[in-house]
Amino acid sequence: MNCKKIVVLLSLAFSGMLLPGAEKIVVRTFPDGYKDCRIGSVFSDAPSALILHSWAKDKPFSSQDVQIRMTLPENFKITRFSICRSPREGHQVYPEKSGNGENTWLMDAGSVSCNVVYQRSAHPWRPEVPWTNSSVIIFIRPEGPVPERFEAKWEIAGENLEKTSGVMKLCTLKAPKLTKRPKEKEVWSLAGGYQSAFGKTNYIDMLKTMRDAGVTTILQAGGYWLPDNLYPIKELPKLGLRPMAFNNLDYAQRIDPDALRKAGFNVTDEDLKLDASGERVRSRKDKKVKQIYCFTAMAEKDSPVRAHMRSFYKKYTDLGFQSFWTDYEPSGYNGCFCGKCRRAFAKFARAEESECLKMSPGELVYKYPYEWYAYRCHMIGRLLTLLSKEIGVPVGWNSNLGHQDYFLPCYDSYGLAYFAEDPRIFDPYVAYHSADTLGTALESVYALEAFLQKKPGGEFAVKKPVIVRATSLHWVSWFFTCIYGRYELALEKGFEGLGTDYRRKLHRLEIAQDFAIGAAGIEVGADPFTADAEALTGITEGIQFAADFEDYIRREYRQDRQCVKLFDCTDAESPYENITKRGYLSNWFRLAARKYGNLQVVVHQNKEWLLASIFNWDYYQDKKLRLELPPLPAGEYYINISLDNEKYTLKTPVTPKTLAEGLSVNLPGGSFLAILLSPKALFPVRDMSLPHFAGGKLVTPYVPGTKHEGMKPFYEYVYNAQIRPMMSLYPKAGFKLIDVNTRK
Ligand SMILES: [Zn+2]
Repeated sequence: MNCKKIVVLLSLAFSGMLLPGAEKIVVRTFPDGYKDCRIGSVFSDAPSALILHSWAKDKPFSSQDVQIRMTLPENFKITRFSICRSPREGHQVYPEKSGNGENTWLMDAGSVSCNVVYQRSAHPWRPEVPWTNSSVIIFIRPEGPVPERFEAKWEIAGENLEKTSGVMKLCTLKAPKLTKRPKEKEVWSLAGGYQSAFGKTNYIDMLKTMRDAGVTTILQAGGYWLPDNLYPIKELPKLGLRPMAFNNLDYAQRIDPDALRKAGFNVTDEDLKLDASGERVRSRKDKKVKQIYCFTAMAEKDSPVRAHMRSFYKKYTDLGFQSFWTDYEPSGYNGCFCGKCRRAFAKFARAEESECLKMSPGELVYKYPYEWYAYRCHMIGRLLTLLSKEIGVPVGWNSNLGHQDYFLPCYDSYGLAYFAEDPRIFDPYVAYHSADTLGTALESVYALEAFLQKKPGGEFAVKKPVIVRATSLHWVSWFFTCIYGRYELALEKGFEGLGTDYRRKLHRLEIAQDFAIGAAGIEVGADPFTADAEALTGITEGIQFAADFEDYIRREYRQDRQCVKLFDCTDAESPYENITKRGYLSNWFRLAARKYGNLQVVVHQNKEWLLASIFNWDYYQDKKLRLELPPLPAGEYYINISLDNEKYTLKTPVTPKTLAEGLSVNLPGGSFLAILLSPKALFPVRDMSLPHFAGGKLVTPYVPGTKHEGMKPFYEYVYNAQIRPMMSLYPKAGFKLIDVNTRK
């Protein structure tokens, strides 16, 4: 027995004792910890990650000789473990045979610094818990048949550390694989938040799992660096994955002018933002602003700031990144008011230049509230175009479109962008848009609708492809910083939990409906620290729908919702309301369901075929439905069906005359059903018929963009909302609110 082992055994012997003054830790586990049923999921045929998120309970401390023990079914092997991003390469992971088809693994972590204390932020409904450096990340790999369900007992102990233990309940699922990949649709994902924890084999295997599940593009974003040493970024395309850099505009803006000068970029005062109080901003730390350079100056031919940006981006393109996009959220009004900006604005708005140069910032934007906002959008858009050309890769932009009910004359369409990043203005400047839909579930689907809307003349408001944040993780980041804080709040508020154990169905429905309404792609969290086996399966199910119907769900084939009539012929009352109001997040989703309706239909049609895709967002009730379709040209039509991707064609074709009676279908809770009427039988033929339902309650589709209130919503939700805090930030700059009732 070597010395190390003796130390391990001795400390194990002591670990059970409550030592005087022993420090305590708080542990929250993933992937079981966010489920009300407390059953997480792992892959039965691919590596998975189990996480013991750990914080100091009372005060920061360090512990020596920390050991983690975990008991797993014998065919699961622990291949590696890491304390946060710091892998314990030199330490031992070995099983102690314990019989009964189980192995207990001992992970010797050595010295661990537990320097983050568990606490919940004070946010009233979105509390977070802090990032911790002491989480235990454990990679497990199946090496033979594994049980459908098992328990993983765990224990953390160490010198002056009170032993903490628990049990994770887990079930196993096969890693999801698309049976057909979409030709054009994109699926973006980060590659997880603990990059260096993986080790090369786990990293590549994780990338393969994500790729097979449908991911096309791996995002590099702040704090989530792709580990070039584990798998060279340039090699990613060999795995069928595209690397994309995220937030470059923001990062490049973080570098102070002094640092730029030192690096050889001759930045002058003229390049710096002149804020509303008339001061040049010299650092991001200054007044905590994110814009330190003048965008107008940055778009000039020989801007040293842009020259620096080119070199900054080159770092990424040299590595093999093929595109970048930015989530910047520029303020419409809290920007630069320098002479260059004012002169460029006067030209843009055809306003009197001398007047624009003379007015206080407040007077200027009060006189030209929308024009100034539009100018800001155009300016940043121009800058993006220049950068894209100069670095030779496409650029995209992440925008929010909120208040999608308002129909605004300035846009000739509906929806409001709070920040100076209106996708309708950005459209000519970017290669693609990212729809920053933050509501999750139906709320997000309808936010995407605003991007995909047609203007009154029938033209699309945004012509470039739109990638959408699907199950955006805003309300419920499945990543621990959000979920555990919200879970506790939920229980304190008397809810039974988060109410989202149907997460697989949530992903499936949201992603499939996003694609159905016209998304060119989605952004999801498909990495093992965000999506467990069940969640990734739901993600794949949504993508599979897009792959199967890609040729039919093109934007231009989409019809108005009102072109079909859907009747709900279900007899019983749905338990949806009663169940969803008991969960903290499901309760929120319920509000969206009330507004938009749990039954959704999206119709695509061209000369020869009609595709009706129905989504049942009522997870708790199977629906009996009858669909009345628009008239179809004479001929025979096969009924091709995909029920949650199970595809078949009914043996007997139908005629428009039979279809005129309506099509009756059963649709299980949380499922989608695509019905493609086509002259061809597209799937394996089944000799079966559809049910017949009569009557039923007409489902009224929600139609966004109906409130005509002129510019009032813009003044209220964009202008006044941003000017209000600026009035106290810059009391002498002349800012004042617009009276929305009198201003035209
Ligand atoms: Zn300026």
